[in-house]
Amino acid sequence: MSNRTFYNEVLTDHNIYPDNKKPLEGANMTKEGVNPSCGDDIVLMLTYEDGIIKDAGFVGEGCAISQASTDIMINLIKGKTKAEAEHLSDIFLRMIQGEASEEEIKELEEGAALQDISHMPARVKCAVLGWRTLNELLKNAE
Ligand code: ZN
Repeated sequence: MSNRTFYNEVLTDHNIYPDNKKPLEGANMTKEGVNPSCGDDIVLMLTYEDGIIKDAGFVGEGCAISQASTDIMINLIKGKTKAEAEHLSDIFLRMIQGEASEEEIKELEEGAALQDISHMPARVKCAVLGWRTLNELLKNAE
């Protein structure tokens, strides 16, 4: 199985069977993220306590890339500190620009499935929607 096939399967799987696409009970931070160029519209929810993302979830609709990317992101950031989540976000956004190293991309685990988006400029906003929404939330997090 080629890497490309593997990556497509990861994205398809997270789109059809998302782990985190559900309203989060007890969330204390919520933010809508919209990508008008594609029609992607998500609401990201965090339970943020003592500087740690204790839990996260999202609802919304949009293309497979936006939904899978957000679902994968939530798996990565659950249980992480604000600084750790921002570190991963920084790597992801640079990966999408084609500027992250192989070592850094490994830290993104399944998020690496989206690295080819750097060759598809029209899909960049879809891939980064969840991460940009997360950054907006963390900006205001103590
Ligand atoms: Zn999209």
